[in-house]
Amino acid sequence: MRILVVEDESALRESLKTQLVAAGFTVDVAQDGKEGLFAGLEYPLDLAVIDLGLPQVSGLEVIRKLRAAHKTYPILILTARDNWQDKVEGLQAGADDYVAKPFQFEEVLARLQALLRRAGGWATPQLQCGPVTLDTRAQTVSVDGAPVELTTFEYRILEHLMLRAGEVISKSELTERLYDQDFERDSNVIEVLVGRLRRKLDPQDQLKPIETLRGRGYRFSLARQAG
Ligand code: CA
Repeated sequence: MRILVVEDESALRESLKTQLVAAGFTVDVAQDGKEGLFAGLEYPLDLAVIDLGLPQVSGLEVIRKLRAAHKTYPILILTARDNWQDKVEGLQAGADDYVAKPFQFEEVLARLQALLRRAGGWATPQLQCGPVTLDTRAQTVSVDGAPVELTTFEYRILEHLMLRAGEVISKSELTERLYDQDFERDSNVIEVLVGRLRRKLDPQDQLKPIETLRGRGYRFSLARQAG
C-alpha cells in the first residue's frame, strides 16, 4: 500500500515514515502543502496522512483540491489537540478521519488500516475469501486454518489483491504501490512473486486464488465471505 505523509515538522514526518515503512507501507513524504498537493495529484496513492497546519498551502486547501480533482483515496488528517473546529472543517473538506496531536503511532496505524479496509469494502480486519484468511493486524495468512509463511513482498501483494478481491489490478499498479520512486521497477519481479504466492497458497493447484487476465493484470477470484 502506498501512502503519502504531508507534515512540516521534520522529526514527526521522519518518525511517521520510519514507522509506516516498518508496518509494510511504501511511503512518500512532503514537507509543505505545495509539495503535498503535487504528490497527492501525481502519485499512485492508496491513502494520505495530511497535517492541517502546513506552510505554502494549508492542509484544508490541499484536501479540497485533491477532492476537486476526483482523488478518492482515504485521507487521515492530523489536527491540533482540543480544536474541534479543525476536525469539523477537515472532514467537511473531504478527509475521512482524524487523529489529534500528540498521538501514539499505533492509533494512526489502526485508523489507516480501518480506512483501507473500508475503502475495499471490508468491515473487519480479517479478510476471508474462500479458505484463505488474511489478518491485516497480525499480517498473517492461512489456508483452511493452516498458516502460510510469506515474505514481506508476497504478503503485500496478497493484501493488496484481497483488499480489492474481485477487481482487476494491473501489474503496473501493483509495482507502483510496492516500491517507492527510487526503486527500479520491473514487472517481471511481480510475475515471479505472484507465481510463488500461488504455489504457497495452492500447492496442489486446485484453488486457483489468483487469476491472470492477459494484458490487464491479476484478480483475486475466491468469493469474499461476509465478515
Ligand atoms: Ca504543522
